[in-house]
Amino acid sequence: NKKQSADADKIAVKLKQGDRRALARAITLVESSRSDHRATAQALLNIILPDTGDSIRIGISGTPGVGKSTFIEAFGKLLTAAGHKVAVLTIDPSSQRSGGSILGDKTRMEELVRDPNAFIRPSPSGGSLGGVARRTREAMLLTEAAGFDVILIETVGVGQSETTVAEMVDVFLLLLAPAGGDELQGIKRGVMELADIVVINKADGDLKSAAARAAAEYKGAIGLMRPKSKNWKPKVLMVSALNKIGIDKLWETIGKYRAARGSDNELADQRRDQAVAWMWSELGDSLMARFRAHDVVAARIKQMEADVKAAQIAPTTAAEKLLEIFLEK
Ligand code: GDP
Repeated sequence: NKKQSADADKIAVKLKQGDRRALARAITLVESSRSDHRATAQALLNIILPDTGDSIRIGISGTPGVGKSTFIEAFGKLLTAAGHKVAVLTIDPSSQRSGGSILGDKTRMEELVRDPNAFIRPSPSGGSLGGVARRTREAMLLTEAAGFDVILIETVGVGQSETTVAEMVDVFLLLLAPAGGDELQGIKRGVMELADIVVINKADGDLKSAAARAAAEYKGAIGLMRPKSKNWKPKVLMVSALNKIGIDKLWETIGKYRAARGSDNELADQRRDQAVAWMWSELGDSLMARFRAHDVVAARIKQMEADVKAAQIAPTTAAEKLLEIFLEK
């Protein structure tokens, strides 16, 4: 469509100049459910694709209260002071339930919000995790095209969202509070396995020794796990986001991580694999959406579910029948 590609061209020019309003506008297009907006957004993404990727993509996960926003504010300020341009995006599966986002809430990062070299975009509310993930991935590409070179993607430790974030970043940080023993048991093993760097926050004041004990325990736990990469063994660091201690060391560690995994092209391969996995997940989501929207399928599906519940038909047979209906011309 002519109009949409003309619109996309215009936005792309401004986006590449680092124009923040163009960036905000572009992300709004990506988040829109209107088909003309989606078409413009897709045209735009294809134009800017060569200008993306020149960044470090950092995932940050942690349960509410662990200090994510305090940490991101401190980390973000350190980075912008060092000349970086920092974008903060979020994947917030709870926003569909509460209707409002608890992540990326701008009031939680007062200083960073006012920083001209930072860009904070709260999670869009509504939609499936897959839908939110797509919008975040696309927003990530847009911020990169606009010249942001550090992308922070924040998520809460709920359900599938950590895996989703780990699948779109170069390095995954797991933020934990100082507590050991029972607390350590409470963390899902699967989540620990995603972490490239475990960050124990609140290592200050009365909590300092508890933080050190927790760090030792996590080191022990990680020692027993098989590392994801042959070039990197997950590290455990202690920080105080509140007192801005250890944040510079963390950034240094991320640098070492990049060097260790970059020299072997591991990170580049990971990104290529992520792009292909993204295509497949899009394909899965859109096939499913079309399937559900198909008139005849929609008309039959309730009855089929009832029959499966009543053990009138085997689930596999029911699925095959529905698929046949869907594929019939
Ligand atoms: P989030 O829900 O993960 O974003 O956590 P917040 O950043 O909102 O922090 C939750 C609480 O922990 C707040 O009261 C913070 O002041 C406090 N907090 C965050 N970081 C630290 C830290 O490094 N040390 C201490 N002592 N408290 C912290």
